[in-house]
Amino acid sequence: TLNALLGPVQIRDLAGRLGVRPTKTLGQNFVHDAGTVRKIVRSAGIEAGQHVVEVGPGLGSLTLGLLEAGVSVVAVEIDPVLAAQLPLTVREMAPEQADRLTVVVQDALTVKELPGPPPTALVANLPYNVAVPVLLTFLERFPSLDRVLVMVQAEVADRLAAPPGNRTYGIPSVKAAWYASARRTATIGRSVFWPVPNVDSALVLLERRDHPQTTASRQSVFRVVDAAFAQRRKTLRGALSGLAGSPAAAQSALEAAGVDPGARGERLTVAEFARIAEALEAAAT
Ligand code: SAM
Repeated sequence: TLNALLGPVQIRDLAGRLGVRPTKTLGQNFVHDAGTVRKIVRSAGIEAGQHVVEVGPGLGSLTLGLLEAGVSVVAVEIDPVLAAQLPLTVREMAPEQADRLTVVVQDALTVKELPGPPPTALVANLPYNVAVPVLLTFLERFPSLDRVLVMVQAEVADRLAAPPGNRTYGIPSVKAAWYASARRTATIGRSVFWPVPNVDSALVLLERRDHPQTTASRQSVFRVVDAAFAQRRKTLRGALSGLAGSPAAAQSALEAAGVDPGARGERLTVAEFARIAEALEAAAT
């Protein structure tokens, strides 16, 4: 059976009752369209009985859609007023599903562990300003997550899903590729939100895969990625000379990794970044 989901009237009524004035800093744009909620849930490909983590449940639009799909939800919300209201809303609108919801009042970026069994999926309409760090933090901290379906700003969705050589390929693309393969599955217009944001959104599906075989640590691979993109115009020889100690040391590490020292970071795969990190580590010991 389908839940009653939050429409424009309920969203405004709830916000009014709680005295919520949505803030930009917390990326508070609430979905008031049941079709969009069900599309997110469908795109996530989750099954009843699964344990799902949601970041930023807000007034509960997506939470109700996830509970409708029969999963258990741990919802991490930074805003204490919204977090306190969420169980009440669920008890009112879907009473028989309320015991499948656990609310954690915390900044998602600082979450080290979650209550209950390890979550297998992250499904969220992410706050825009912290979308990429939240995504990467959760993929790193919770290896049990094998699927992630998030709604983010359309431009961020493109970056996350961009292949090497693409115009939007950059730090988020490579770091996401360390954990998962990512693709943009849908565009969502701004009219489904209250308040209406200035940008369109998109859904991104990330499916976990093994990271490239390497002896280098994830941290040292990410350091190489950060350095390579810090000065986009520079060749890798120049961009990595600080990390390597000198342009000559960068040159020989790149050659050892089988990467053209005159190339730029925007063409390299995550596996190539891993080989460079490995060569730099080997040269340092
Ligand atoms: N899921 C709801 C929906 O679809 O209507 C709300 C999504 S809204 C884009 C983002 C939500 O994330 C807000 O409720 C906001 O308070 C919350 N939020 C912002 N920063 C956060 C953080 N660092 N950790 C946890 N929640 C955060």
